[in-house]
Amino acid sequence: MEALLQQIENYKKEINAYEAANAEAVETFRIKYLGTKGLVKTVMGEMKNVPNEQKKQFGLVLNEFKLFTEEKFASLQAQTINDKQETINNFDWSLPGDSFAVGTRHPLMIVRNEIVSIFKRLGFAVAEGPEIEDDWHNFGAMNLPEDHPARDMQDTFYINQNPAWLLRTHTSSVQARVMEKQKPPIRVICPGRVYRNETISARAHCFFHQVEGLYIDENVSFADLKQTLYFFVQEMFGKEVKVRFRPSYFPFTEPSAEMDISCLICGGDGCNVCKHTGWVEILGSGMVHPKVLENFNIDSNKYTGFAFGMGIERVCQLKYRINDLRLYSQNDVRFLKQFTSAL
Ligand SMILES: [Zn+2]
Repeated sequence: MEALLQQIENYKKEINAYEAANAEAVETFRIKYLGTKGLVKTVMGEMKNVPNEQKKQFGLVLNEFKLFTEEKFASLQAQTINDKQETINNFDWSLPGDSFAVGTRHPLMIVRNEIVSIFKRLGFAVAEGPEIEDDWHNFGAMNLPEDHPARDMQDTFYINQNPAWLLRTHTSSVQARVMEKQKPPIRVICPGRVYRNETISARAHCFFHQVEGLYIDENVSFADLKQTLYFFVQEMFGKEVKVRFRPSYFPFTEPSAEMDISCLICGGDGCNVCKHTGWVEILGSGMVHPKVLENFNIDSNKYTGFAFGMGIERVCQLKYRINDLRLYSQNDVRFLKQFTSAL
């Protein structure tokens, strides 16, 4: 008992002498003396070894020791708060602040926003849909049945084989969802990320971005399609750009056409980008296949429509002369910084 009381006196001296320079040291004090495995708890555990007749007296000593430690802790806490206040009071608030970097929009988003704003002026609404799609919305509804050879050109990543859940290969799946819910007239553009099972190179990637458009109403003709796309190209690339249409094939449009624009880099004289033809391909388009309309119970005798689709990466490449697709997703700040002024 005597030895124990002496020990407590020694602890008190130690506690009294404790100094804390910062909040961390205060916390160390708390853990060491007042924590669940701290000294105060340990000393209190000695109670069971004390003879019964001395328990009352020892209890008082223990209580006093506990209060003593708690008071010291409170004073240490108050001290660090005062120190902090002093630092704040002595701080020179007129010093210049730390500069911070302002980010820029990604070039693909700059171009996407520009494409969207051009079509919005023509009355197109923006429609979006899920990137994980079922087979029907991505392929079946678009007149690409399971054995269709065109599916080979759009191999993708399957989340589940049967029933098929996959990463969409085009935003046509969004068109399908719009036709499912909406009756004509329909006038939407569908921007979004799409996926293909491709080896990554300067010219191909396993994901890219598209803007597709769909216009369905009575008496919509190929002339409307041409005029709409011609307006888009002039707004996007300037008034002097020429366009041409080449017959093509897509399962979901008939007739189908690919649209080229005169090469912006050589002005039509011929260069590497246009493979010395003076023309570069920019998008695919066509009149919506009657079968696609009927898939959604839209009367193909009454309604016609056109659809088109373009890769945002492609438009961005032509606008900013970017020669490698991989640059878009490498997050190289030296590349991204170049678009600061394009905000
Ligand atoms: Zn050229």
